[in-house]
Amino acid sequence: MIELIPGIYQIDLPAPVPGSQLIDVNAYLIRGDGKWMLVDTGWNTRYTFSILQSRLNQIGVRLQDITLVVITHFHPDHYGLVGKLKQVSPARVAMHQVEIDLINPRYLSMDQLLAETAATLRDHGVPEEELPLLQNASLEVRKYVAPLTPEIVLHGGETIAHGEFTFQIVWTPGHSPGHICLYEPNFKLLLSGDHVLPVIFPNVGMHPQSGPDPLGDYRRSLHLVEQLDVDLVLPAHEYVFTLMKRRVRELLEHLEQRREAILGVVRQGARTAYQVSSEIPWIVNGSVMPFSDLCPLDKRLAVMSSLAHLEPLSAQGFVEKTREDGSLLYRVPETS
Ligand SMILES: [Zn+2]
Ligand SMILES: [Zn+2]
Repeated sequence: MIELIPGIYQIDLPAPVPGSQLIDVNAYLIRGDGKWMLVDTGWNTRYTFSILQSRLNQIGVRLQDITLVVITHFHPDHYGLVGKLKQVSPARVAMHQVEIDLINPRYLSMDQLLAETAATLRDHGVPEEELPLLQNASLEVRKYVAPLTPEIVLHGGETIAHGEFTFQIVWTPGHSPGHICLYEPNFKLLLSGDHVLPVIFPNVGMHPQSGPDPLGDYRRSLHLVEQLDVDLVLPAHEYVFTLMKRRVRELLEHLEQRREAILGVVRQGARTAYQVSSEIPWIVNGSVMPFSDLCPLDKRLAVMSSLAHLEPLSAQGFVEKTREDGSLLYRVPETS
């Protein structure tokens, strides 16, 4: 735990399963006038909760002093503990409207989403024998979420005044459809969630809850934060960093490289999104890995990431999409 600037603490919350592919998350605790605000929560495990409690103790903050919890997006590492926190503190919880609307199908009545996910994976070439593993991969992390419907609905453009700080809510869809960043213009801080991380390339995938062009959304959201005057980025993973604009450029260039790699594969012949994914390398927790070595959840994220590139390429006419033997195939048209 570090006090980054007076009144803002970074609290490193560990992944629930040490050594797994799940990663630590940074929550941020922010001092107001006798009350505290928490940005993101970590996973819903006793272990994560006990670490959070001990960090609060170190600062002399009680759970009852937390009056506001802002969630950058609804992934389990950011949103998981919110239900538990609500039980033990007076905190009101804030989240983007788009994300709030997706909580029920994602975490409560999940049958339809699981069926849609299976249909998407089948359409895009995931072999029947692998399908149940990939379809159900997210159920593993579901157990780390205590879902709750936030009472404060954000749309982007609001300001949250808290003590010395005035945070502007910036809607940054892409990594998730209702992702938000918090921008503090006086201190030139950006709490970037998973939108801009110093080393990791945030996963952007097309899936039943992503909207039609998550990659287009992500690029636009990168350009949006690129306009902001930021001295220090406080990300939800890894470490704080400066030179945000340079990192945004790297992320945009990385997307171009991935797009080229995917186009390179479909130039060789018709491929499903699954086949494309199996022919390009993947980076997991900093290591380059072949598709075959990925765990089921990462395989699923990989297929959906390829799809996020292939679908706009198809919509823009750079690749053709046809259905053959029940699967969707992408190929570069002969004439181009
Ligand atoms: Zn995330
Ligand atoms: Zn995350």
